[in-house]
Amino acid sequence: MELMKKKKNGYLLCPDDRQAAYDYCEGYKQFLDKGKIERFCVEEAVRIASEAGFVPFEYGKNYLPGEKIYFVQHDRAVIFAVIGSSPVTEGFNITAAHVDCPRLDLKQVPMYEDGGLTLLKTHYYGGVRKYQWVALPLALCGLVCKRNGEKVRIEIGNDPSDPIFYISDLLPHLAKDQKEIAGEDLNVIIGSIPDSEAEETPYKTEILRILNEKYGITEEDFETADLSVVPAEKARDIGFDRSMISAYGHDDRICAYPELTALLSLRGIPKKTCVAVFADREEVGSMGISGLRCSYVADFLKELCGTENALQAFANSCALSADVNAAFDPTFPSVYEKRNSALVNHGVAVSKYTGSRGKGGCSEAPAELLARIFKIFDDNNVLYQTSELGKVDQGGGGTVSQFLADHNILVLDIGVALLSMHAPYELAGKLDIYHMHKACVAFYENY
Ligand code: MN
Ligand code: MN
Repeated sequence: MELMKKKKNGYLLCPDDRQAAYDYCEGYKQFLDKGKIERFCVEEAVRIASEAGFVPFEYGKNYLPGEKIYFVQHDRAVIFAVIGSSPVTEGFNITAAHVDCPRLDLKQVPMYEDGGLTLLKTHYYGGVRKYQWVALPLALCGLVCKRNGEKVRIEIGNDPSDPIFYISDLLPHLAKDQKEIAGEDLNVIIGSIPDSEAEETPYKTEILRILNEKYGITEEDFETADLSVVPAEKARDIGFDRSMISAYGHDDRICAYPELTALLSLRGIPKKTCVAVFADREEVGSMGISGLRCSYVADFLKELCGTENALQAFANSCALSADVNAAFDPTFPSVYEKRNSALVNHGVAVSKYTGSRGKGGCSEAPAELLARIFKIFDDNNVLYQTSELGKVDQGGGGTVSQFLADHNILVLDIGVALLSMHAPYELAGKLDIYHMHKACVAFYENY
């Protein structure tokens, strides 16, 4: 018996997983590059699942063990399920991640011209450090829905042949009085040629002419659109050893993608019905029609219960609230409590509780649940570490776990630990990403 517990690097503990992790992450990087906003993530995940035989959920249908279904919530969130062989009253095994990320949304009247430039006003979404979003290659993604119902998918800047967009910053020579970047400073430059005939707003006219020619849209279509400005760069390997990935949107596609790949790699029909949730709106508090405060996940589970006792099914269910954690950063050690911080590539990060300053706003997993999950991980060679998000009085953060607990579902917080969380390019370890996949498989098959 080992009296003391020592943390060890995952590449030393599981050397055989190195190549598997590197291979696995090639698919993850592609997923990130295709899914820069939640709509595109849902689209790509449904494409992957459909190829694996998942079909759209139908209300009122009686599903049989082994059937694979998905339910899309307003194109911005999706639930995947594989029906298990046990009675549904024995409970669901659920993993829940979110696919929205911090970004800059366009305002409803975004376009203006000034100083010989055409620009777009933005309103940032989620917790961003505004100074990180200037002087950066940016892409424009989203949906324009015209008043006649016609939908125009917008994705400009992700293909290397596309133009990209840009937010300016002050030059150091003139930045003496600049304290910070304000929200209203995050204005995206989109053009600089005036229309030769327009007497008023010639710069704006020229861009609107191009938009109309290429996409058939007019200025009023911005009033209804879901358009976001996101980093244009693709996911890339980091380090001489290529052991990490820097990318936009790790939080929280780094947990969503493994949920799905785990569902796709189940061996045979699982005992319990396994459910993977890709939620939206987590970064702003989970409210709204596609956030996890909405009843759509519980409603979907109730539908799967049919005439069986849904209350009993919920009471016997368990969920992994799959979301990122903060990895210890040796450059900024003062905000972390090192003994209780996750380290990059030391395994999936498990938090008994989240919240901030006195565990405020969190659901805490009971000892029995942690012990049971850790036993499953031990038995299935899943590398894990415990983790708390920073020093007690420094801050903290929440996840969707409390909204699952609201439905009387046991829930545990687990995820991949990141450096530079919420930055335009976040950093994560490949071994941790691969073990997030292994953790989901072990949970689905053994809980
Ligand atoms: Mn998150
Ligand atoms: Mn976040």
